[in-house]
Amino acid sequence: MPRTTHIVGAGLSGLSAAIELTLRGEAVVVHEATTFAGGRCRSYHDAVLGMTIDNGNHLLLSGNHGAMRYADLLGARDRLVGPPKAEFPFMDLGSKEQWTLRINDGRIPWWIFNSSKRVPGTHAFDYLPMARLLWAAKDRAVGEVVRFTGPLYERLMRPLLLAALNIEPSAGSAALAGAVIRETIATGGEACRPLVAREGLGGALVEPALELLRMRGSPVKLGHQLHRLRASDTRVEALDFGSGDIVTLADDDRVILAVPPYAATALMPGLQTPTEFRAIVNAHFRIEPAPYQPAILGLVNSTTEWVFAFPGRVATTISAGDRLIDTPRDALARTIWSEVSAATGLPAELPPWQIVRERRATFAATPEQDALRPGPNTRFTNLLLAGDWTNTGLPATIEGAIRSGRRAADLVA
Ligand SMILES: Cc1cc2nc3c(=O)[nH]c(=O)nc-3n(C[C@H](O)[C@H](O)[C@H](O)COP(=O)(O)OP(=O)(O)OC[C@H]3O[C@@H](n4cnc5c(N)ncnc54)[C@H](O)[C@@H]3O)c2cc1C
Repeated sequence: MPRTTHIVGAGLSGLSAAIELTLRGEAVVVHEATTFAGGRCRSYHDAVLGMTIDNGNHLLLSGNHGAMRYADLLGARDRLVGPPKAEFPFMDLGSKEQWTLRINDGRIPWWIFNSSKRVPGTHAFDYLPMARLLWAAKDRAVGEVVRFTGPLYERLMRPLLLAALNIEPSAGSAALAGAVIRETIATGGEACRPLVAREGLGGALVEPALELLRMRGSPVKLGHQLHRLRASDTRVEALDFGSGDIVTLADDDRVILAVPPYAATALMPGLQTPTEFRAIVNAHFRIEPAPYQPAILGLVNSTTEWVFAFPGRVATTISAGDRLIDTPRDALARTIWSEVSAATGLPAELPPWQIVRERRATFAATPEQDALRPGPNTRFTNLLLAGDWTNTGLPATIEGAIRSGRRAADLVA
């Protein structure tokens, strides 16, 4: 019998591990608790809107090389679309000022010396303190390393870091912020092109993976929740799926646990993981975007942070949205739509809407929570961890999840 790797969790970290191992000829079985794959990055049919939507708008950047490689392996790179250059249109809803940030290709940031490409109201030297984040110690918060005030903070650093870290930036880990800047802005425009799954996350990142696994004979068992690990002191002996459904592991078999941190600690008491989370609030409106509406529009001085234009749908994102978890849904929809209407010129009348609030969208990216992230190895010789919350050196993102899956696959292979 060839050795089998059991992957628990069919989010992007689990799928990434499964694809890597399957393409290397390894025997793989994926076990997913819910009836769908994709985890926190999924598409589904919304009955209220009568259309397929994503649980949340997911933005990738062209410099997310792990995610690009994964999309290439799936033959799905063309389903991630964006402008040919790193351009980010913004609007200040307070002053109605509009500008487009244009980051040039190459490592020399010429754009900060050009007033038509940088943030209005800023000077080139305002950008220098950003570099301090590149070498920040792991125990420092952004607010301890740089004191950003004024237009550069409000119009660039805050929107960028809030979106990347999903936490109020001053409290966020300076090292994680530095990692984001190093892999994006500091690399140049070719790493900063914004990419979205225009036809949906499922069709771009999930269904092609399921199809490839199916074609290669790697089963994906949906509705198959792992209830318990049966283990000796040093290795996992069996996977217990409840009701007598037990998979006994052969000596060579491996397990990759690619579940969220709270599920991992339930299965492995004593495992150290992040314990605090932040929410993301998304709103979806069934309406054709305005003519000339950009694919992604950043808003400042507003509750809404990003407005996305999809075919037949306008969607918005609010990061670190915990303060909005208890706001009545219709009040929230009205507030967000009034801002979208003001920014895009779409009619003020509220179109059919849906609000999706993911309470535990990501772990809280503080230095303290970052320090709790474990590596892939565990006390069991045959069990590895994957997930955006493991110590990838990145915030909880698609890129981190996909890299963690590949790292676990490398350790198996
Ligand atoms: C609303 C929202 C917006 C986001 N926006 C962005 C963005 O713009 N850009 C970006 O890069 N990232 C974004 N993210 C983060 C990104 O979605 C995650 O980092 C990524 O999807 C995490 O993948 P994962 O595999 O680590 O975890 P998950 O997706 O959580 O996958 C874990 C899987 O394990 C399964 N599971 C749990 N317990 C068991 C069990 N006992 N047995 C079997 N299966 C189990 C779960 O059902 C789930 O399918 C966003 C997240 C949210 C929620």
